[in-house]
Amino acid sequence: MTQPVRLIPLLCPHCQNPIPAQPDEVAWVCTNCQKGLLLDESKGAVPLNIFFHAGLSAGKTGAPFWVTRGRVVFQQRETYRGNEKKAMQAFWAEPRLFAIPAYALPLEEAIALGVKFLQQPLKMEAGKPAPFLPIVVSPQDVHPLAEFIVMSIEAERKDALRQLTFTLSLEPLQCWILPV
Ligand SMILES: [Zn+2]
Repeated sequence: MTQPVRLIPLLCPHCQNPIPAQPDEVAWVCTNCQKGLLLDESKGAVPLNIFFHAGLSAGKTGAPFWVTRGRVVFQQRETYRGNEKKAMQAFWAEPRLFAIPAYALPLEEAIALGVKFLQQPLKMEAGKPAPFLPIVVSPQDVHPLAEFIVMSIEAERKDALRQLTFTLSLEPLQCWILPV
């Protein structure tokens, strides 16, 4: 996707400070007022709450994630052999906590991290601000990535999955800086 040309500099919506934005970045913490902001394609920079995890160690760079609860409703699970439908339905009976990497990562690694988080979620406790890797994954890209994570979890079950159809609904996203 080509980046839109920015004819006017991005300004912090809280304090009007110019944001030294790199071309791929979509969200920042303002260096002047320390508040979060997100690039909205139509509105420019809009306020964004950025949460820092309590488990971040001082002086270490954290990694940004889009975190949200997601509910999965399955329509069909077709297999070549075996049938793990009951295990699948038990696992997804309640909404699950998703964390989608928001920093630059190859797709396979991003999915693997998302799967790991979903299976062993962190307790989301906020702590002190810390430096973090650039945020380059926009909120619009989160839903397809979360669908990949669901597919990946289901493909790893003991049966031989042939086809899976489901709908995934996500709650509003939160931006978290997590220890990695
Ligand atoms: Zn500011």
